[in-house]
Amino acid sequence: MTSSLCRVAPAAIVLAALALVFPGTPMRAQQSLAPTPHPVDWDALQRESVQVLRDYIRVNTTNPPGNEIEAARFLKRVLDREGIDARILDTTELGAGHANLYARLKGNGSRRAIALVHHMDVVPAVATYWTSGPFDAELKDGYIYGRGTLDMKGQGIAHLMAMIALKRAGAPLTRDIVFIANTNEENGGTGAAMFTKRHADLLSDVEYLFTEGGDNPVVDGVTRYYGVGVEEKRPYPLRLVAHGVPSHGSRPTKQNPVVKLVAALDRIAHYETPLHVVPGVARYFAALSQSYAGQQRAWLADVGAAIDDPAARVWLTNDVYWNAILRNTISMTMLTGSNKNNVIPPEASAHLDIRLLPDQDPAEFLAQITRIVADTSVSVLAQTTAKVRMDNSIDTDLYRAIERATHDRDPGALVTTPMFTAATDRPSYRALGIITYGFDPFRVESADMQKGMHGNDERISIQNMGWGVHYLFDVLRYAQ
Ligand SMILES: [Zn+2]
Repeated sequence: MTSSLCRVAPAAIVLAALALVFPGTPMRAQQSLAPTPHPVDWDALQRESVQVLRDYIRVNTTNPPGNEIEAARFLKRVLDREGIDARILDTTELGAGHANLYARLKGNGSRRAIALVHHMDVVPAVATYWTSGPFDAELKDGYIYGRGTLDMKGQGIAHLMAMIALKRAGAPLTRDIVFIANTNEENGGTGAAMFTKRHADLLSDVEYLFTEGGDNPVVDGVTRYYGVGVEEKRPYPLRLVAHGVPSHGSRPTKQNPVVKLVAALDRIAHYETPLHVVPGVARYFAALSQSYAGQQRAWLADVGAAIDDPAARVWLTNDVYWNAILRNTISMTMLTGSNKNNVIPPEASAHLDIRLLPDQDPAEFLAQITRIVADTSVSVLAQTTAKVRMDNSIDTDLYRAIERATHDRDPGALVTTPMFTAATDRPSYRALGIITYGFDPFRVESADMQKGMHGNDERISIQNMGWGVHYLFDVLRYAQ
């Protein structure tokens, strides 16, 4: 996934926020977790998790080509050692070097299963921009450096080790824990699509699923919020093609498609998509309002009303993340005209990276852009169909389990639902009716996220590995 830009508040405001008890996340007396039959040595588990992650990073799954089958074999070896049955699937259908992996830790079956899903592939890394080899998994300054530590092999190993710890500890389980590792998330999402198409039977009892798309950003050592992703923007890439008449560049004509294209793009550039608040976003802003004062606090508390106030609109949309979660967005990216300076081409084209809010109608958006282009010689073409709408209730046992486990270790913490602006594999699973949360068990410095995710010197702290495995272990136990 690509990183979403987090709102970064001044430290003083964040610290003031910590003194408050947030609405929607009441501090309540709660039963803590009973000891497991076999106690977990958390220090030893942290050391082991770090080692397993380092070994996993060293399996180079840069996509393309991916070669995730080696990663799947690695995970299967670890699971085999623990006596957890794992299957490597879809090798023929996905093509050479690709595979999905599936494993299941049995509970008593009285409640429906929880799936932990990650992707094994990573985006390319240019070693010259890194201070250590991207696939060396070097330990430095308390961190593991390597491609995939944040996106998302680190989370995958947290899933794996939390599941292994549940088994070793003999924790009573009412729900099976399903572990899934997909191929090709960074290159078309075909791994999750293939898995859900061919193996819906393996998922028929799955009620909940965790994968990427949540974040717990840390600014100046303080965790700003614990963000559970319940919605995400829907990519809906469009292509504009202007049709004209080819001729010699020395004699300008009125049928030059490059001119038509530029004029159409100019009209789109001046078009402001309407602001629109979806429920998860309203909840996120309302929770965040507690760390602001005065007028800004009032605006955030009722952002649905604030978007009708011109001053509030300017303030809200000045933030690139807030702007992106309040409207459909249009980014112009690729342009093609002639391949020769003295030739007027027969056509010219542009690509628009469109991200729709979850509740929008793609056909209506396409019609709107066509109206704005207002030129019958310019075609507006959808490049894909938009994936299934992502929206998930937070009135669930699993969301409450996240709140409990979070407040156990960070009393008064804000647990909320920021919307993810990029795309994940979640829609493939959501299409089967599974409640699908973006949940990241780590607390990551915003600066590290910004720099490392799909960038350089991607890293995760050793302490975070231990913390994240324990946090996820507790969430899974509270959800039983
Ligand atoms: Zn990812």
